[in-house]
Amino acid sequence: MMRSVVLAVTNRSLTKKLVTETAAGRAVAHRFVAGDTLEEAVAVAEELNTMGMSVSLDHLGEHVTAIDEATAARDSYLACLGEIADQQLDANISIKLTQLGMGLDDEVAARYLDEIAVAALGAETTVTIDMEESEHTQTTIDLYVAAQKKHGNLGIAIQSYLRRTREDLDRIIPLGGHIRLCKGAYAEPEDVVFQSNDEVDAAFDRLGALLMESPDVKPAIASHDIARQVKVIEAARHRQDPWEFQVLYGVQRDRQAELVSMGHEVRVYVPYGEAWYPYLTRRLAERPANLFFFMRALVKG
Ligand SMILES: Cc1cc2nc3c(=O)[nH]c(=O)nc-3n(C[C@H](O)[C@H](O)[C@H](O)COP(=O)(O)OP(=O)(O)OC[C@H]3O[C@@H](n4cnc5c(N)ncnc54)[C@H](O)[C@@H]3O)c2cc1C
Repeated sequence: MMRSVVLAVTNRSLTKKLVTETAAGRAVAHRFVAGDTLEEAVAVAEELNTMGMSVSLDHLGEHVTAIDEATAARDSYLACLGEIADQQLDANISIKLTQLGMGLDDEVAARYLDEIAVAALGAETTVTIDMEESEHTQTTIDLYVAAQKKHGNLGIAIQSYLRRTREDLDRIIPLGGHIRLCKGAYAEPEDVVFQSNDEVDAAFDRLGALLMESPDVKPAIASHDIARQVKVIEAARHRQDPWEFQVLYGVQRDRQAELVSMGHEVRVYVPYGEAWYPYLTRRLAERPANLFFFMRALVKG
C-alpha cells in the first residue's frame, strides 16, 4: 500500500524534476548509487572487494523507447565487462532486459543478451537478469531460459511476492545458474502478488528453503530483513554447495560487514549511471524513513 502511494507520487513528472534537478535530490541518490560513471563504480567495487565482498555492477536504465538506447546499454555493459577483466574485480553484472529492448523488440533484446553473456564468459564472470514488473515476467524467463541453455553463465532474480514464482522455479531450477531471491519492488495488481507482508515473507522462507535443497543452483538471498536472513541460514545448515547473500549498496552497511564477519559470502549490488531516478524511487518506497530523510534534505536545500 505504502509502496503504491510512494511510487504513484514519484512517477509524476513534477516530482521527478524536483528530485533530479536539485542538489538535495542528487545527494540522496548518491547514498544508493555509486556515481554517474563506470570509473566511479569500479572504484566502489574495488573498495568493497577489499572489505571481503563481491559485487554486482548495474548500469542503470530500463524501459528504453528506441533501439539506439538498447544498443548503447549493450555497449555500456561490454565496457563494464572489459573493466571487470582488466581490473580483476570480484564482480559480475546485473541487467534489466527492458534496458536491452525487451518489450520493444524481443529479438534484439535476446541478441544483445547473447552478446553480453559471451563477453561475460570472456571476462570469466556471470550475468544476472533483474526481475522487473509482472507484465514482463514471462518474457524475462523465456529469454533467460534460452540464454542460459546456450551459455550457462547466467542467473535470474525471482520475487517472493509473485504468486506464480513457485511454478516458475520448476522451469528455472533444472537449468542450474544462480538464482537471486528477493521480495519484489514494484507496485503490482492484487491478483498477481500476495497482499500481506506475512504472506510475502512466508513465501520468501519457503522459496529460500527450496533453493537451499537444490544442489545445482547457486542461491543468492537478496533481503535486508534480518528475520528472513536468519531463516535462510537455518535452511542452509546442511547445504554443501555454495550460496551467498546479496545486499544493496548503501543499505544497512553495518549488517553487510557483520554478515561477512559471520563467514558468509556477501555480494553488493552496485548501481551506477545517470538514469538513477526510477531506481531511487523504489528505494524510497521500500522504507518510509528514506522519504523523511529525503524531504529533510530538500527543505535544508
Ligand atoms: C541485491 C538485491 C537485488 C534486488 N533485485 C531485485 C530485482 O531484480 N527485482 C525486484 O523486484 N526487486 C529487487 N530487489 C529489491 C527487493 O525486492 C526489495 O524491494 C528490497 O530488498 C526490500 O525488501 P527486503 O527484503 O530488504 O525487506 P524489507 O522488509 O523491505 O526491509 C527489511 C529492512 O531492511 C532495511 N531496508 C530495506 N530496504 C531499504 C532501503 N531501500 N533503504 C534503507 N533500508 C532498507 C530496513 O531496515 C527494513 O526494515 C533487490 C534487492 C536486493 C537486496
